[in-house]
Amino acid sequence: MKCNEISHFSHPQHKLSYEYSEFPFKCDGCKEVGIGSRYKCTNCDYDLHMHCAIPSPSITHPFYTKCSFQFLSRPPGNVPRYCNACEKDITGFLYHCRSCGFDLHPCCAKLPMVLDDGDVKLYLYRKVSASCHRCGRKGRNKSWSYRSTCKKYNLHVACVKEMLVDSWHEIYFGHDNNYNNSNTNYRKLENRIPSLKGTLQTHHKKSKGKAQKCCEVAGLALQFIISAVLGDPTTLIAGVVGSLMSK
Ligand SMILES: [Zn+2]
Ligand SMILES: [Zn+2]
Ligand SMILES: [Zn+2]
Ligand SMILES: [Zn+2]
Ligand SMILES: [Zn+2]
Repeated sequence: MKCNEISHFSHPQHKLSYEYSEFPFKCDGCKEVGIGSRYKCTNCDYDLHMHCAIPSPSITHPFYTKCSFQFLSRPPGNVPRYCNACEKDITGFLYHCRSCGFDLHPCCAKLPMVLDDGDVKLYLYRKVSASCHRCGRKGRNKSWSYRSTCKKYNLHVACVKEMLVDSWHEIYFGHDNNYNNSNTNYRKLENRIPSLKGTLQTHHKKSKGKAQKCCEVAGLALQFIISAVLGDPTTLIAGVVGSLMSK
């Protein structure tokens, strides 16, 4: 399924080649951030998520059983559209249901229903009534959430995206002079998301034994969620987020 070179309608002048890198990119199809696997034009600095490079013409989604989503290269009509999974604006590629007007980013449409690495299992929910570990809010409008098996760890897809938008420029471009000094960068990221760090450390403080285990799991879980939201659930951004959570 994974070809080394493809042609794509959005960039007909050159072939795109498969590349894997932990360096984030902005997808020129859906305009969202990505990490890990991508198709790239090396002449033009043109990048596409796997999901945007090889879209399905139409999909169904377990959360919207009556819908049929068509792949479109730009949002239909003149009104601003937002994604039903992450609440963010849609400005490029999308999946759209003609009969109800629901819209999904290609990567949001393909978010795995379960993220599982053997130890950690996270389930995707359309709505979660417990509070989110990033924003603290319950049932934030319409954003989907990932929830751990123990149900103690919830994170909005919308919040993961916000966290990344807040942080990623700073992580990757804010320290041109000492890009290789990773410790500095990690500390920066940690400062940017204090609420998340705080909740990870304290949300279980009453039951000591289990606390440690569950918080480790939660930290690992976050890596999975971030990779999935960025369009490549197989990526582990261990260097960036893993170190933050293991402190
Ligand atoms: Zn994309
Ligand atoms: Zn090109
Ligand atoms: Zn529909
Ligand atoms: Zn989305
Ligand atoms: Zn949240």
